[in-house]
Amino acid sequence: MDYTKDLSIVISLYNEEESLPELVQWIEGVMKKEGYTYEIIMVNDGSTDASWKIIKELSRKNPCIRGISFRRNYGKSAALYHGFAAAEGRVVVTMDADLQDSPEEIPEMYRMITDGGYDIVSGWKKKRHDNKLTKNLPSKLYNWTARKITGIKLHDMNCGLKAYHNEVVKNIEVYGEMHRYIPYLAKNAGFDKITEKPVHHQKRKYGKSKFGLNRFVNGFLDLISLWFLSRFGKKPMHFFGFTGILMFLLGGFLTIWIIAEKLIQQGNGLAYRPVTDQPLFYLALVAIIIGFQMFLTGFLGELVSRNSQERNHYNIREEF
Ligand code: UDP
Ligand code: MG
Repeated sequence: MDYTKDLSIVISLYNEEESLPELVQWIEGVMKKEGYTYEIIMVNDGSTDASWKIIKELSRKNPCIRGISFRRNYGKSAALYHGFAAAEGRVVVTMDADLQDSPEEIPEMYRMITDGGYDIVSGWKKKRHDNKLTKNLPSKLYNWTARKITGIKLHDMNCGLKAYHNEVVKNIEVYGEMHRYIPYLAKNAGFDKITEKPVHHQKRKYGKSKFGLNRFVNGFLDLISLWFLSRFGKKPMHFFGFTGILMFLLGGFLTIWIIAEKLIQQGNGLAYRPVTDQPLFYLALVAIIIGFQMFLTGFLGELVSRNSQERNHYNIREEF
Protein backbone atom coordinates (compact mmCIF):
# COMPACT_ATOMS: atom_id res chain seq x y z
CA MET A 1 0.00 0.00 0.00
CA ASP A 2 1.11 3.58 -0.66
CA TYR A 3 1.04 6.03 2.16
CA THR A 4 0.94 9.75 1.57
CA LYS A 5 3.18 10.50 4.56
CA ASP A 6 5.84 8.95 6.73
CA LEU A 7 4.07 9.68 9.99
CA SER A 8 0.66 10.39 11.46
CA ILE A 9 0.71 11.66 15.02
CA VAL A 10 -2.67 11.18 16.63
CA ILE A 11 -3.34 13.22 19.77
CA SER A 12 -6.53 12.91 21.76
CA LEU A 13 -7.15 15.83 24.04
CA TYR A 14 -9.66 17.08 26.51
CA ASN A 15 -9.20 20.56 27.98
CA GLU A 16 -5.48 20.91 27.36
CA GLU A 17 -5.36 24.53 26.14
CA GLU A 18 -2.17 25.49 27.98
CA SER A 19 -0.15 22.56 26.65
CA LEU A 20 -1.05 22.67 22.98
CA PRO A 21 1.23 25.42 21.59
CA GLU A 22 4.28 23.99 23.38
CA LEU A 23 3.40 20.47 22.29
CA VAL A 24 3.07 21.40 18.63
CA GLN A 25 6.30 23.38 18.69
CA TRP A 26 8.13 20.45 20.24
CA ILE A 27 6.80 17.98 17.66
CA GLU A 28 7.57 20.34 14.78
CA GLY A 29 11.15 20.63 15.98
CA VAL A 30 11.64 16.86 15.99
CA MET A 31 9.95 16.41 12.60
CA LYS A 32 12.12 19.08 11.02
CA LYS A 33 15.30 17.60 12.40
CA GLU A 34 14.47 14.15 11.04
CA GLY A 35 13.01 15.41 7.76
CA TYR A 36 9.80 13.38 7.99
CA THR A 37 6.68 14.11 6.00
CA TYR A 38 3.96 14.07 8.63
CA GLU A 39 0.54 15.06 9.85
CA ILE A 40 -0.60 15.86 13.36
CA ILE A 41 -4.19 14.79 13.89
CA MET A 42 -5.63 16.63 16.87
CA VAL A 43 -8.81 14.99 18.10
CA ASN A 44 -10.62 17.37 20.41
CA ASP A 45 -12.72 15.21 22.68
CA GLY A 46 -15.38 17.83 23.49
CA SER A 47 -13.12 20.27 25.34
CA THR A 48 -14.93 23.06 27.12
CA ASP A 49 -11.90 25.38 27.18
CA ALA A 50 -10.18 27.14 24.28
CA SER A 51 -8.40 24.01 22.99
CA TRP A 52 -10.24 23.86 19.66
CA LYS A 53 -9.72 27.55 18.96
CA ILE A 54 -6.01 27.13 19.61
CA ILE A 55 -5.82 24.08 17.34
CA LYS A 56 -7.40 26.07 14.50
CA GLU A 57 -4.94 28.90 15.02
CA LEU A 58 -2.01 26.50 15.05
CA SER A 59 -3.19 24.81 11.87
CA ARG A 60 -3.23 28.14 10.06
CA LYS A 61 0.51 28.39 10.68
CA ASN A 62 1.22 24.75 9.95
CA PRO A 63 -0.94 22.97 7.35
CA CYS A 64 0.34 19.59 8.60
CA ILE A 65 -2.00 20.02 11.56
CA ARG A 66 -5.40 18.48 11.04
CA GLY A 67 -8.28 18.62 13.48
CA ILE A 68 -11.37 16.63 14.41
CA SER A 69 -13.68 18.05 17.05
CA PHE A 70 -16.37 16.09 18.88
CA ARG A 71 -19.52 17.86 19.90
CA ARG A 72 -19.20 16.43 23.39
CA ASN A 73 -16.78 14.41 25.50
CA TYR A 74 -16.85 10.77 24.40
CA GLY A 75 -13.58 9.50 25.88
CA LYS A 76 -10.09 8.70 24.71
CA SER A 77 -11.09 5.51 22.86
CA ALA A 78 -13.59 7.34 20.68
CA ALA A 79 -11.00 10.01 19.92
CA LEU A 80 -8.37 7.44 18.94
CA TYR A 81 -10.90 5.57 16.83
CA HIS A 82 -11.49 8.64 14.67
CA GLY A 83 -7.84 9.59 14.64
CA PHE A 84 -6.92 6.11 13.41
CA ALA A 85 -9.56 6.22 10.71
CA ALA A 86 -8.12 9.49 9.42
CA ALA A 87 -4.42 8.53 9.62
CA GLU A 88 -2.62 8.45 6.27
CA GLY A 89 0.95 7.94 7.43
CA ARG A 90 2.94 4.74 7.11
CA VAL A 91 3.58 4.79 10.84
CA VAL A 92 0.94 6.02 13.24
CA VAL A 93 2.05 7.41 16.61
CA THR A 94 -0.32 8.19 19.46
CA MET A 95 0.61 10.49 22.29
CA ASP A 96 -1.06 12.43 25.09
CA ALA A 97 -1.50 16.16 24.80
CA ASP A 98 -0.37 17.03 28.30
CA LEU A 99 3.40 17.18 27.58
CA GLN A 100 3.98 14.07 29.71
CA ASP A 101 5.08 12.10 26.62
CA SER A 102 8.18 13.25 24.79
CA PRO A 103 8.16 13.62 20.98
CA GLU A 104 11.92 12.97 21.04
CA GLU A 105 11.06 9.28 21.28
CA ILE A 106 9.25 9.24 17.95
CA PRO A 107 12.21 8.79 15.55
CA GLU A 108 13.49 5.67 17.31
CA MET A 109 9.98 4.19 17.51
CA TYR A 110 9.52 5.00 13.82
CA ARG A 111 12.68 3.10 12.93
CA MET A 112 11.65 0.12 15.04
CA ILE A 113 8.49 -0.15 12.93
CA THR A 114 9.95 0.54 9.50
CA ASP A 115 13.36 -1.17 9.81
CA GLY A 116 12.77 -3.44 12.79
CA GLY A 117 9.60 -4.88 11.29
CA TYR A 118 7.50 -4.49 14.43
CA ASP A 119 3.72 -4.04 14.29
CA ILE A 120 3.57 -2.11 17.55
CA VAL A 121 6.15 -0.34 19.68
CA SER A 122 4.65 0.53 23.05
CA GLY A 123 6.16 3.15 25.32
CA TRP A 124 7.29 2.08 28.77
CA LYS A 125 7.34 4.82 31.40
CA LYS A 126 10.17 3.18 33.27
CA LYS A 127 10.53 6.13 35.61
CA ARG A 128 7.08 7.54 36.19
CA HIS A 129 6.40 11.05 37.34
CA ASP A 130 2.93 10.53 38.71
CA ASN A 131 1.57 10.21 42.22
CA LYS A 132 3.20 7.12 43.75
CA LEU A 133 0.31 5.81 45.82
CA THR A 134 -2.64 6.42 43.52
CA LYS A 135 -0.95 5.56 40.26
CA ASN A 136 2.39 3.80 40.35
CA LEU A 137 1.49 0.98 42.72
CA PRO A 138 -1.94 0.08 41.31
CA SER A 139 -0.43 0.38 37.87
CA LYS A 140 2.19 -2.27 38.63
CA LEU A 141 -0.49 -4.69 39.81
CA TYR A 142 -2.70 -3.87 36.86
CA ASN A 143 0.08 -4.44 34.36
CA TRP A 144 1.01 -7.73 35.97
CA THR A 145 -2.59 -8.97 35.63
CA ALA A 146 -2.77 -7.70 32.07
CA ARG A 147 0.45 -9.56 31.19
CA LYS A 148 -0.89 -12.81 32.63
CA ILE A 149 -4.25 -12.58 30.88
CA THR A 150 -3.18 -11.22 27.50
CA GLY A 151 0.10 -13.08 27.23
CA ILE A 152 1.74 -9.89 25.92
CA LYS A 153 4.95 -9.07 27.75
CA LEU A 154 4.55 -5.33 28.21
CA HIS A 155 5.45 -3.44 31.38
CA ASP A 156 3.17 -0.52 30.60
CA MET A 157 0.21 -1.61 28.51
CA ASN A 158 -1.70 1.67 28.85
CA CYS A 159 1.13 4.06 27.94
CA GLY A 160 -0.25 6.86 25.77
CA LEU A 161 2.88 6.97 23.63
CA LYS A 162 2.85 4.16 21.08
CA ALA A 163 3.77 3.61 17.45
CA TYR A 164 1.89 1.35 15.07
CA HIS A 165 2.22 0.23 11.53
CA ASN A 166 -0.67 1.83 9.66
CA GLU A 167 -2.13 -1.60 8.88
CA VAL A 168 -2.60 -2.29 12.58
CA VAL A 169 -4.75 0.75 13.27
CA LYS A 170 -6.89 0.12 10.20
CA ASN A 171 -7.58 -3.44 11.30
CA ILE A 172 -8.67 -2.91 14.88
CA GLU A 173 -11.65 -1.18 16.37
CA VAL A 174 -11.08 0.76 19.58
CA TYR A 175 -14.38 1.23 21.44
CA GLY A 176 -15.74 1.76 24.94
CA GLU A 177 -12.66 2.30 27.07
CA MET A 178 -10.55 -0.24 25.24
CA HIS A 179 -7.78 2.28 24.49
CA ARG A 180 -6.06 0.67 27.49
CA TYR A 181 -5.71 -2.59 25.62
CA ILE A 182 -4.85 -1.70 22.04
CA PRO A 183 -1.92 -4.16 21.98
CA TYR A 184 -4.35 -6.90 22.99
CA LEU A 185 -6.86 -5.86 20.33
CA ALA A 186 -4.02 -5.96 17.82
CA LYS A 187 -2.86 -9.34 18.99
CA ASN A 188 -6.38 -10.71 18.63
CA ALA A 189 -6.42 -9.31 15.09
CA GLY A 190 -3.26 -11.27 14.28
CA PHE A 191 -0.53 -8.66 14.82
CA ASP A 192 1.92 -10.31 17.15
CA LYS A 193 5.18 -8.44 16.63
CA ILE A 194 4.74 -6.28 19.69
CA THR A 195 7.61 -4.77 21.64
CA GLU A 196 8.29 -1.94 24.03
CA LYS A 197 10.72 0.92 24.37
CA PRO A 198 11.54 2.74 27.62
CA VAL A 199 10.47 6.35 27.23
CA HIS A 200 11.00 9.55 29.14
CA HIS A 201 8.05 10.70 31.15
CA GLN A 202 7.49 14.20 32.51
CA LYS A 203 5.35 15.59 35.28
CA ARG A 204 2.08 17.08 34.14
CA LYS A 205 2.93 20.73 33.57
CA TYR A 206 -0.56 22.21 33.19
CA GLY A 207 -4.08 21.13 34.07
CA LYS A 208 -4.84 17.89 35.85
CA SER A 209 -5.26 14.20 35.10
CA LYS A 210 -8.58 13.29 33.49
CA PHE A 211 -8.75 9.77 34.87
CA GLY A 212 -9.38 8.87 38.52
CA LEU A 213 -8.82 5.70 40.50
CA ASN A 214 -11.87 4.04 38.95
CA ARG A 215 -9.67 3.48 35.90
CA PHE A 216 -8.30 0.38 37.61
CA VAL A 217 -11.71 -1.13 38.39
CA ASN A 218 -13.09 -0.40 34.92
CA GLY A 219 -9.82 -1.41 33.33
CA PHE A 220 -9.94 -4.77 35.05
CA LEU A 221 -13.55 -5.42 34.01
CA ASP A 222 -12.68 -4.52 30.42
CA LEU A 223 -9.75 -6.89 30.54
CA ILE A 224 -12.02 -9.76 31.58
CA SER A 225 -14.48 -8.88 28.81
CA LEU A 226 -11.75 -8.84 26.19
CA TRP A 227 -10.35 -12.13 27.40
CA PHE A 228 -13.79 -13.70 27.20
CA LEU A 229 -14.47 -12.23 23.77
CA SER A 230 -11.20 -13.43 22.36
CA ARG A 231 -11.71 -16.96 23.67
CA PHE A 232 -15.43 -17.50 23.38
CA GLY A 233 -16.77 -14.47 21.48
CA LYS A 234 -17.50 -16.54 18.38
CA LYS A 235 -18.63 -19.66 20.26
CA PRO A 236 -20.31 -18.68 23.56
CA MET A 237 -21.99 -22.10 23.83
CA HIS A 238 -18.60 -23.72 24.33
CA PHE A 239 -18.23 -21.84 27.59
CA PHE A 240 -21.78 -21.64 28.94
CA GLY A 241 -22.93 -24.95 27.55
CA PHE A 242 -20.06 -26.86 29.06
CA THR A 243 -20.31 -25.39 32.57
CA GLY A 244 -24.12 -25.50 32.35
CA ILE A 245 -24.30 -29.19 31.47
CA LEU A 246 -21.72 -30.02 34.11
CA MET A 247 -23.76 -28.31 36.85
CA PHE A 248 -27.03 -29.70 35.57
CA LEU A 249 -25.70 -33.26 35.57
CA LEU A 250 -24.10 -32.89 38.98
CA GLY A 251 -27.35 -31.54 40.46
CA GLY A 252 -29.45 -34.20 38.74
CA PHE A 253 -27.17 -37.02 39.86
CA LEU A 254 -27.17 -35.82 43.47
CA THR A 255 -30.97 -35.48 43.53
CA ILE A 256 -31.49 -39.01 42.19
CA TRP A 257 -28.91 -40.32 44.64
CA ILE A 258 -30.58 -38.67 47.63
CA ILE A 259 -34.05 -39.87 46.66
CA ALA A 260 -32.88 -43.41 45.80
CA GLU A 261 -30.97 -43.73 49.07
CA LYS A 262 -34.04 -42.70 51.03
CA LEU A 263 -36.33 -45.13 49.13
CA ILE A 264 -33.94 -48.05 49.56
CA GLN A 265 -33.51 -47.44 53.27
CA GLN A 266 -37.26 -47.03 53.66
CA GLY A 267 -37.95 -50.20 51.65
CA ASN A 268 -35.58 -52.20 53.83
CA GLY A 269 -37.26 -50.94 56.97
CA LEU A 270 -34.12 -49.05 58.08
CA ALA A 271 -33.94 -45.60 59.65
CA TYR A 272 -33.97 -42.92 56.93
CA ARG A 273 -33.77 -39.14 56.63
CA PRO A 274 -36.57 -37.43 54.70
CA VAL A 275 -35.26 -35.91 51.47
CA THR A 276 -36.30 -32.41 52.49
CA ASP A 277 -34.27 -32.66 55.67
CA GLN A 278 -31.03 -32.92 53.73
CA PRO A 279 -29.25 -29.62 52.92
CA LEU A 280 -27.45 -31.29 50.02
CA PHE A 281 -30.81 -31.78 48.32
CA TYR A 282 -31.33 -28.01 48.10
CA LEU A 283 -27.82 -27.44 46.83
CA ALA A 284 -28.48 -30.04 44.15
CA LEU A 285 -31.68 -28.26 43.11
CA VAL A 286 -29.83 -24.94 42.89
CA ALA A 287 -27.15 -26.58 40.75
CA ILE A 288 -29.83 -27.89 38.37
CA ILE A 289 -31.45 -24.49 38.03
CA ILE A 290 -28.20 -22.56 37.55
CA GLY A 291 -26.91 -25.20 35.16
CA PHE A 292 -30.02 -24.92 33.04
CA GLN A 293 -29.76 -21.13 33.04
CA MET A 294 -26.11 -21.26 31.97
CA PHE A 295 -27.15 -23.50 29.11
CA LEU A 296 -29.86 -21.04 28.06
CA THR A 297 -27.35 -18.18 28.32
CA GLY A 298 -25.16 -20.10 25.89
CA PHE A 299 -28.06 -20.41 23.48
CA LEU A 300 -28.82 -16.70 23.72
CA GLY A 301 -25.13 -15.98 23.18
CA GLU A 302 -25.18 -18.10 20.03
CA LEU A 303 -28.25 -16.25 18.76
CA VAL A 304 -26.58 -12.90 19.38
CA SER A 305 -23.33 -13.94 17.73
CA ARG A 306 -25.23 -15.42 14.77
CA ASN A 307 -26.70 -11.98 14.11
CA SER A 308 -23.42 -10.18 14.57
CA GLN A 309 -21.90 -8.51 11.55
CA GLU A 310 -18.55 -9.67 12.85
CA ARG A 311 -19.40 -13.35 12.70
CA ASN A 312 -17.44 -13.92 9.51
CA HIS A 313 -14.86 -11.25 9.90
CA TYR A 314 -11.34 -12.60 9.51
CA ASN A 315 -8.14 -10.72 8.95
CA ILE A 316 -6.55 -11.65 5.63
CA ARG A 317 -2.91 -10.69 5.29
CA GLU A 318 -2.43 -11.41 1.60
CA GLU A 319 -4.35 -12.96 -1.24
CA PHE A 320 -3.65 -13.58 -4.91
N1 UDP B 1 -8.29 12.60 27.22
C1 UDP B 1 -9.27 12.60 26.23
N2 UDP B 1 -10.57 12.39 26.59
C2 UDP B 1 -10.94 12.17 27.89
C3 UDP B 1 -9.93 12.15 28.88
C4 UDP B 1 -8.62 12.35 28.51
O1 UDP B 1 -8.97 12.79 25.07
O2 UDP B 1 -12.13 11.99 28.16
C5 UDP B 1 -6.88 12.84 26.83
C6 UDP B 1 -6.16 13.88 27.67
O3 UDP B 1 -6.44 15.18 27.22
C7 UDP B 1 -4.72 13.48 27.48
C8 UDP B 1 -4.80 11.98 27.38
O4 UDP B 1 -6.15 11.65 27.04
O5 UDP B 1 -4.20 14.01 26.28
C9 UDP B 1 -4.38 11.29 28.66
O6 UDP B 1 -5.12 11.81 29.74
P1 UDP B 1 -4.46 12.16 31.15
O7 UDP B 1 -3.18 12.88 30.97
O8 UDP B 1 -5.49 12.83 31.98
O9 UDP B 1 -4.20 10.71 31.74
P2 UDP B 1 -2.98 10.26 32.68
O10 UDP B 1 -1.72 10.84 32.15
O11 UDP B 1 -3.34 10.77 34.03
O12 UDP B 1 -3.02 8.77 32.59
MG1 MG C 1 -1.23 12.54 31.42
